[in-house]
Amino acid sequence: MSPVSASSRLNKNLHQHYRSLPQGDVAQVTYVWIDGSGETLRCKTRTLECEPQGIEDLPEWNFDGSSTYQADTSNSDMHLVPVRMFRDPFALDPNKLVLCEVLKFNRQPAETNLRVRCRKVMEDVQDLKVWFGMEQEYTLLGVDGHPFDWPQNGFPGRQGPYYCGVGADRAYGRDIVECHYKACLYAGIKVVGTNAEVMPSQWEFQVGPGEGLDVADQLWMARFLLHRVCEDFGVVASLDPKPITGDWNGAGCHTNVSTEASRCIRGDTHTHTHTNTQISYIHSFTAGVADRGASVRIPRQVGLQGWGYFEDRRPAANCDPYAVTEVIVRTCFLGCPG
Ligand code: ADP
Ligand code: MN
Ligand code: MN
Ligand code: MN
Ligand code: MN
Repeated sequence: MSPVSASSRLNKNLHQHYRSLPQGDVAQVTYVWIDGSGETLRCKTRTLECEPQGIEDLPEWNFDGSSTYQADTSNSDMHLVPVRMFRDPFALDPNKLVLCEVLKFNRQPAETNLRVRCRKVMEDVQDLKVWFGMEQEYTLLGVDGHPFDWPQNGFPGRQGPYYCGVGADRAYGRDIVECHYKACLYAGIKVVGTNAEVMPSQWEFQVGPGEGLDVADQLWMARFLLHRVCEDFGVVASLDPKPITGDWNGAGCHTNVSTEASRCIRGDTHTHTHTNTQISYIHSFTAGVADRGASVRIPRQVGLQGWGYFEDRRPAANCDPYAVTEVIVRTCFLGCPG
């Protein structure tokens, strides 16, 4: 068995007693932001006098950037600017989770605040009505970093039975997946589906489709919920693109893209493909209908009907969705990758 954290073994019935105490008119609001790593999230909570109805009811806040790889100790205050509010599936209504942008002392975006550029680029292509859907893969680990429920010395049976698998010998940690899914729906995150992945203890959920900034915001908050749900269970969700070396599946964040025009039924086919190799290589670009070894895959249904969306299979699981959606728009619609 994988070791779980001590805090996950604290008495949850006792915890439930305090959780269900009446709280009067006040609301607990948890501010969530991306730290200086550009990958991990931080949060802290404050009390507001009444339930906020929208982003305009949420005051700006600040935090110590010298403790999040974001500032020097001598000039450490960073601004937290609320941009997106969600219901809190842990503390429940009227409590909230709030995704924030981070600004430096001079109100310029922090180095890892890629949301500002993403928003500008999305505005430039507003007329195309670009939609994105992102598939987030992740791997469950014990607190010791060992894959969840893998034998302590050795490996589970080789890959094959696990993808979309069912049964105690195939699905490792489904409780977490189900709880996270419900938590996302409660929060107001448009999770469209979930499935077990190719490697045991590896899972996926999908967000979207919707506009780039919106989907990226939702994916970041969905990641927060994932880490938070895992914390309750005493396990860790890793977004490492290659968590286990050797012949074990990596973890990606396939990004599906369409425009209003591509979503329209039409007579001619606008998908041009060429042959490709077995695996998707970092240094060469390939595309193909139903080809999961290509950089870009045209889903079978889309290839047949001649309209729909394409799937960019290159983004890694730990990507920043603001950067991914921005660069896709730049290369596909603006002709300027940088
Ligand atoms: P896969 O077969 O690649 O595993 P999934 O079912 O996991 O496919 O994910 C499909 C993704 O495609 C979802 O994230 C969904 O939001 C997205 N999607 C569906 N329709 C569109 C569309 N018109 N434009 C962009 N993304 C879309
Ligand atoms: Mn303090
Ligand atoms: Mn998928
Ligand atoms: Mn997948
Ligand atoms: Mn996919």
